[in-house]
Amino acid sequence: MKPIVIDQNAIRSENRRRILHLLVRERELTILEISQALEISIPTVTKNINQFIAEGIAEEAGTSASTGGRRPAIIRFLPNAYYSIGVEFSAERVIRIVLANLDSHIEDSLNLVCPDFQDMPSIMASICEQINATLNERHISLKHVLGIGFALPGTVNEDRKFLYAAPSLGIGQILFSDYEALFRLPIFVENDANAAVMAELALGDLPAMKNVVFLSILPHSIRGGIVVGGHLYHGCNKRAGKFSHIAIALDGAPCSCGRSGCWESFASINALLGMYRERTGASASVDGIFARMKAGEATAQQTLDQYANYVAIGIRNILLIQDPHYVILGGVLSRFEEEFLPLLREKIFSGHAILQQDDVQIICASLKEDAAILGAALLPLEKIYTAHE
Ligand SMILES: [Zn+2]
Repeated sequence: MKPIVIDQNAIRSENRRRILHLLVRERELTILEISQALEISIPTVTKNINQFIAEGIAEEAGTSASTGGRRPAIIRFLPNAYYSIGVEFSAERVIRIVLANLDSHIEDSLNLVCPDFQDMPSIMASICEQINATLNERHISLKHVLGIGFALPGTVNEDRKFLYAAPSLGIGQILFSDYEALFRLPIFVENDANAAVMAELALGDLPAMKNVVFLSILPHSIRGGIVVGGHLYHGCNKRAGKFSHIAIALDGAPCSCGRSGCWESFASINALLGMYRERTGASASVDGIFARMKAGEATAQQTLDQYANYVAIGIRNILLIQDPHYVILGGVLSRFEEEFLPLLREKIFSGHAILQQDDVQIICASLKEDAAILGAALLPLEKIYTAHE
């Protein structure tokens, strides 16, 4: 039998993570309260708290009432001790940049319109300029910024900080670590749907989620983030969750993947807009179609009914493969929870002998369209939970 080796570093790191999570949640606690809540010894809690104070993420904030003896110090979490930057490249040719504090609260947000992504060095220089201007304006020094997280619409190797390909932007083979010297900050990268599901898990309404599929339905594509047992599943070739190219028909429009009948050509946002245009001869936005449905327009109702059917086919396939606890709908559709979810649920489950409504929760992203960028900003924040001497 192999001897069991106790990894002291892992225990120290786990203690730090648990203490910090509790302090972030409760904001103010005494050392005794932390020790009792987490069943960690007072000397270990004290050592960690002293470390947090030295790092600037906590402070002593007066004393608590005591039943006798010395009054214990209150330890207070300081959410603005450090910041993180999230950057999202979207297929709509917009670069969104946010500054978030340790609470993942968006302190500043700006958009750069970027019609062409080909000249990456110039794009990175513009992003860097914007970030530096924001930090100067807020008197935040670089040493209080943990890093920059990029949420990218493509296949990403997060360990190598490498974007293999983002076909919607026509770019690929980009090594993001090449730009760390320019930003003078560590860079982190993640696929946008993976970043979104991480944010939903860490910051969303349902923190106890274990097995989750996040579906980001976008203008040209459908991307997914898959969480199994609480961990993001990237897949052998970093392609897990490329739901766009699940085939749902033998025939259909030819697809960029070289085949036809792919889910994205039936269920992407552009497919919805195209269906409405075909029926009416007129263009409308997603907001417009939902507004017309609510106003009782029959064509808008029929279009959404047909569209929900197409979305449901793909979701049924996913449910049969993955059997998750939750399917979270992200992207623009997450804004139409009341109008779209009941219809979608009916299309998924009605008449199916195996899949039942109660087996899985189909919900909308609680972070709405901020999910991916908050996930990007979370990537550097992870450092604060793992750092130790
Ligand atoms: Zn395809």
